[in-house]
Amino acid sequence: MLSHYDYLVVGSGLFGSVFASQASKAGKKVLVLEKRRGVGGNISTVKKDGITVHTYGAHIFHTSDEEIWSFVTNHVRMKNFINSPIAYYKGEVYNMPFNMNTFSRMWNISTPLEARKIIEEQRKGIEKPTNLEEMAISLVGRDIYTKLVKDYTEKQWGRPCKELPPEIIKRLPVRFTYDNNYFNDKYQGIPEEGYTALVEKLLESSDVITGEDYLANRSKWDSLADKTLYTGCLDALYGEEGALEYRSLKFEEVMYEEENRQGVAVVNHTSHEVEYTRSIEHKHFLSESSPVTWISYEYPMPFEKTKEPYYPVNDEKNQKLYATYKERAGKDGVLIGGRLAEYKYYDMDKTIRSALDLAKKVL
Ligand SMILES: Cc1cc2nc3c(=O)[nH]c(=O)nc-3n(C[C@H](O)[C@H](O)[C@H](O)COP(=O)(O)OP(=O)(O)OC[C@H]3O[C@@H](n4cnc5c(N)ncnc54)[C@H](O)[C@@H]3O)c2cc1C
Repeated sequence: MLSHYDYLVVGSGLFGSVFASQASKAGKKVLVLEKRRGVGGNISTVKKDGITVHTYGAHIFHTSDEEIWSFVTNHVRMKNFINSPIAYYKGEVYNMPFNMNTFSRMWNISTPLEARKIIEEQRKGIEKPTNLEEMAISLVGRDIYTKLVKDYTEKQWGRPCKELPPEIIKRLPVRFTYDNNYFNDKYQGIPEEGYTALVEKLLESSDVITGEDYLANRSKWDSLADKTLYTGCLDALYGEEGALEYRSLKFEEVMYEEENRQGVAVVNHTSHEVEYTRSIEHKHFLSESSPVTWISYEYPMPFEKTKEPYYPVNDEKNQKLYATYKERAGKDGVLIGGRLAEYKYYDMDKTIRSALDLAKKVL
């Protein structure tokens, strides 16, 4: 027989577990319900052959928010990791983000002045971009667009760049320095024991039930607590007015009997020659040594009910529909939060910030 709780938290992802940790700290009794078999949501990691594998895609923690960095490092030890991905295009290898290393490889030049001149020349003639292709060319020029943006973006969205709205890429990071550090944030790292260890630490003082879908018996679970925080999709909770759109992903994990296959954690595959967009060699995140290696290949997919929703499609139609569901949750007195319930792409630091803010407001 389960006892009575102050809070039922639906979802053991980063948002739910940060909220649960704060509620427990404030003396509240918390039950966390998770439909997957394990905790952690999309940041969860699992150890394979001595290698910490990121089950739902590469997760690199980065922030410039001192309070969030302290919050994380108060729970787990972080290993410094500077993300310096590479792009692979038809046998050619380029550094990311677009910087002097990329430009010198692309055009056999060496100075920022030469690079600026070429990009300026290539973006001439596009005054008002009307689609993503024109927008990208106006930002980085034709060569970078063709080799490093076009096919990658088309694989991601499943549509030609000419048919995508320009707003998707308001900004493409371009640097005129020899600097391959992908993120500009002050702090970057990966938990030494993996992200699941972080979530387990956050859930230490809560009761946790996994493998149970809240929506399969909502009234039973709600009756166990005074208040519910829901971190799943709002269209799954309500849905009468239609489904929200998402993009999905498939991850294919392969073990190779080699020590070092790609020489870097993240490779972006920027041509249509291969279907996947990224390959991740997990051992490089924490410099783990193992005689074998695990690589996961990331395939963008259209979303359907049996697949995981990864990226919201934040166009006008979906935002409008989302607003009606959000209003409904407000009227029902259900607390909502996280990337699914807020129908928003959130980096981990922003997810933590948002969960701490909600906790501060309601506890
Ligand atoms: C491919 C990819 C790569 C990313 N890489 C980075 C990165 O490098 N750096 C970074 O900062 N951020 C990254 N992110 C963002 C990061 O994943 C999110 O910030 C974080 O996972 C959000 O946590 P959440 O708790 O909101 O959502 P989730 O992790 O999705 O947690 C929600 C949980 O609720 C559960 N749930 C849903 N419905 C129910 C139900 N009905 N009953 C019970 N349980 C339910 C789900 O199973 C899930 O476990 C990446 C995201 C993606 C998609």
